[in-house]
Amino acid sequence: MSKGKVLLVLYRGNEHAKEEQKLLGCLENELGIREFIESHGYELVSTDDKDPEPSSQVDKELEDTEIIITTPFFPAYVTKERIAKAPKLKMCITAGVGSDHIDLNAANERKIAVTEVTGSNVVSVAEHVIMTMLVLVRNFVPAHEQVKKGLWDIAGAAKDEYDLEDKVIATVGAGRIGYRVLERLIAFNPKKLLYYDYQDLPKDAIDKLNQASKLFNGKDNIVERVENLEDMVGQADVVTINCPLHEKSKGLFNKELISKMKDGAWLVNTARGAICVAEDVAAAVKSGKLRGYGGDVWYPQPAPKDHPWREMQNKHNAGNAMTPHVSGTSLDAQARYANGVKSILNSYFTGKHDYRPQDVIVIDGDYATKAYGQRK
Ligand code: NAD
Repeated sequence: MSKGKVLLVLYRGNEHAKEEQKLLGCLENELGIREFIESHGYELVSTDDKDPEPSSQVDKELEDTEIIITTPFFPAYVTKERIAKAPKLKMCITAGVGSDHIDLNAANERKIAVTEVTGSNVVSVAEHVIMTMLVLVRNFVPAHEQVKKGLWDIAGAAKDEYDLEDKVIATVGAGRIGYRVLERLIAFNPKKLLYYDYQDLPKDAIDKLNQASKLFNGKDNIVERVENLEDMVGQADVVTINCPLHEKSKGLFNKELISKMKDGAWLVNTARGAICVAEDVAAAVKSGKLRGYGGDVWYPQPAPKDHPWREMQNKHNAGNAMTPHVSGTSLDAQARYANGVKSILNSYFTGKHDYRPQDVIVIDGDYATKAYGQRK
């Protein structure tokens, strides 16, 4: 008899899983942790059958599940209702970063711990953010489409193409990803780097950016904290969202906040789809209020075929730099988060519960992190 059940929910890899063994994050490769879990006397059930609630395999397995492992890329939404159906559930582990697909308040009510592999893919995402800014600002997509169609219409692409240099770039959230984005932006010689966060960046982190800017670009005091979000977005040519999804950030970028942005600004969101109101963003791109929007996060995931972000375009048939949720799941990142999940499981199975503090989101009925909104 097994000691308990671990339920693992991952996307299916199909032929890609056979082609590339490093695709640890897919159902077929099970994060490379089956043997490890079974060696500790636990049963592992893995599935990609997560929707719809309440008739999926996930729902059927919940009754005797002790640990559920999910990813933000193909999230099994661990709702209040699902938690109620899982009386033995003790821990939810996110293979990656961002545990908003779990109802954290419902987990707290039941004293279920929620952990994630903090830091595992923050470089991967920061790189994707820089790429998305460049794809939008330099109008890459329409230019590339011309190439495939056998066209050579320089003006058609150049009429919506700019440089990232000398732009004001702002991040909402200056944690691990937001800060790494700011670091990487120094190389593009921006006019100003702004951030909005209720947690201060440490002085030495700001000094480091200012010194690098001085050294490489000859510009002093490039970084500025802005206390008011509307003020910040009103000054920025490019805004990037890098905060978690929680009660206060859900729907933050709606019609009203977008109306405070500079006309023709670009918006990049690799944080969570639900931080933006999908219809409001699509309307702003269509009207030209936003010159473009890009990122890799959607709500729900997988995104429905008729999600407005699939087809949205500006008047130049451009301004869309969306991908599926891939930024944090590079093969390098997969190795790191698979390893991190194993460490968390090891702490649990051995009864030591000596998790890395930064991996713990909620535990013993309370939030262990300050990142999911300001709380008492
Ligand atoms: P982090 O905890 O290091 O930093 C988050 C920062 O956001 C914190 O400083 C926090 O104070 C700040 N914050 C929270 N709410 C805010 C708000 N309303 N306004 C401004 N700032 C706010 O987290 P991180 O590692 O930088 O990751 C940030 C988020 O990025 C994750 O929670 C996740 O949603 C997303 N993410 C996406 C991917 C992907 O693959 N697309 C991968 C990793 C993380």
